[in-house]
Amino acid sequence: MAQPPRHDPVSIGGVVKPSFAHLPEPQTLFLERAQRFRAVAHDHDLKRYLLFLADLCEAQHRVQDGLPAAELPAADELARARAFEMPPLDRSRFTPDAACEASLNGLCSCIGLCELTPAANAALRKVRNADAATLAVTMQSVLSDSIPVDAIAEHVFVAAALQVHFARLAAQLDVKNLVAVADGACPTCGGPPASSLVVAWQGAGGARFCACALCGTLWNYIRAKCCVCGSTKSITYQEIEGGPGTIKAECCAECRTYVKVLHHQKDISLDPIADDVASLGLDLLVRETGLRRGGVNPFLIGY
Ligand SMILES: [Zn+2]
Ligand SMILES: [Zn+2]
Repeated sequence: MAQPPRHDPVSIGGVVKPSFAHLPEPQTLFLERAQRFRAVAHDHDLKRYLLFLADLCEAQHRVQDGLPAAELPAADELARARAFEMPPLDRSRFTPDAACEASLNGLCSCIGLCELTPAANAALRKVRNADAATLAVTMQSVLSDSIPVDAIAEHVFVAAALQVHFARLAAQLDVKNLVAVADGACPTCGGPPASSLVVAWQGAGGARFCACALCGTLWNYIRAKCCVCGSTKSITYQEIEGGPGTIKAECCAECRTYVKVLHHQKDISLDPIADDVASLGLDLLVRETGLRRGGVNPFLIGY
């Protein structure tokens, strides 16, 4: 996430505005995330799990070599989505194709080469042996953010494969054609943010972007506005006392949720997915006040 955006901020009448969205670069996204998971694992209570996620992200990076092209919807479908302010890669209408299945098979092979716990190995075996109908149901659970707590490990592998597939699709879109679809919804796939970033990019410094865990899109979203319901009425911030102040929970009293805000201006290496998992302590703190997570990160289900 340390990389500057590909698309320059827009200058309107001499006032520089951050671009509306930043599409993922799958060739670097997962490798950088793997490095970040490895860095935050050091001396962490969740060290073992964070190192597993580092291996999984490395597998997400490696699997892309040799995958068939991920095919975008037809041009007229994309145009229709834009006209109706719908996400072009609507996750709620997704059906797996050959490239998606190849991503899952390849990812299972790559991660299978790593040293896994017996539980992770058993889950991986289940995914590899699952029939198409079972996999379709598993994918649906990931895409609808309804991962069952008794089968989290299987869903983590499938979620990782879907992240690769959706990031490869999203990278082919024209960022200029993306439009805001709703408060708290990714303009590419329609999903909720995992967390949000206040960036330090040149020309866009201080702007906040929501981060999608599925397709990797970042979209501009004003600060001090709830990323779930859009309310600006009762926003407060919580953080771990005595901490570095790099990650805060933006809490909304209207819808009783919170979404984390990661501050690149204080630490450029923060990653919206890896640091979301590594800052679990903040979730535990905020949940004591009765708020629930608004961000959705498949690697944090069950905690
Ligand atoms: Zn998305
Ligand atoms: Zn809210």
